[in-house]
Amino acid sequence: KVLVAGSANLDFVVRAAHVPAPGETVLGRELQLFPGGKGANQAVAAARAGDAHVSMLLALGDDAFVAQLEAPLRDAGVDAHIVRVAGTASGSAFICIADDGENSITVAPGANLHLAPEHLPALQGFSHVLMQLEVPIASVQAYAQAARAANVKVVLNAAPAQALPRALLDCVDVLIVNEGELAALAGSTTQADVSGQCAAIGIPCIVVTLGACGAWLWRRDQALIEQPAFAVDVVDTTGAGDVFCGTLTALLAQGAAFEQAMRYATAASALACTKLGAQSGTPTRVELERFLAD
Ligand code: ADP
Repeated sequence: KVLVAGSANLDFVVRAAHVPAPGETVLGRELQLFPGGKGANQAVAAARAGDAHVSMLLALGDDAFVAQLEAPLRDAGVDAHIVRVAGTASGSAFICIADDGENSITVAPGANLHLAPEHLPALQGFSHVLMQLEVPIASVQAYAQAARAANVKVVLNAAPAQALPRALLDCVDVLIVNEGELAALAGSTTQADVSGQCAAIGIPCIVVTLGACGAWLWRRDQALIEQPAFAVDVVDTTGAGDVFCGTLTALLAQGAAFEQAMRYATAASALACTKLGAQSGTPTRVELERFLAD
């Protein structure tokens, strides 16, 4: 059983000829709304990846968008523990995507910033807790410490990139980062290569996602495992990292070996790149098995 604790945002997406420069107004095309937020994206991916029983702890505001954030979680079969924050807007992201694929994103975290240490539900029955860094770091640390004390494995996707307190890192069993996040965590290390940077962080198991190059699994005192990416026709890579994290954790919670979990996560995130929107592109277990069998 997996508990995802993290953010939910509504993504307001406008496509335009180019991203506005400071002070500039650009006329875009039609507005599209997509449910997003790293936490919700990862919970949906974990639930679709199989029979892992996924719960999510999230905070929503009291605005008109609450239903649009709840529905996709419900549809995916996620058991949502929702903290209602009065007088606050739900998390939102304002995204402009240019025709050349460049984007500019402004996030209003809103209710996500109200997720507090005391909101953690009982951890009994959970094998894994999966978190990201779009909710207060003090809460992430408190949940990680509670999970460690309850013998629940902690999977942390350290995104968006930032330095982290040692007390949090010491509770992490599996760290998932992209190259930029890895560099931010490895900090002032003089090590330039991935293995050296991983060793400098001081966590025994680190997964580094490398976009179109796939992902690496680094474990202390073990050989590096390279999982190549699956070749697909890319439409939108938004949320690919989230699908990777949710799928990997779901497979680990189902007892899969790490190598197999990496293969499924890489396949699911490749499939997610073939559709627009973070959650709408997330494949189901059946679609995933079919893709892997081809
Ligand atoms: P993030 O979006 O968090 O920066 P990455 O860009 O590393 O994360 O992508 C996460 C995973 O998504 C990769 O490990 C890979 O498996 C998959 N992925 C991303 N881009 C592509 C691509 N162009 N083709 C195939 N798979 C991709």
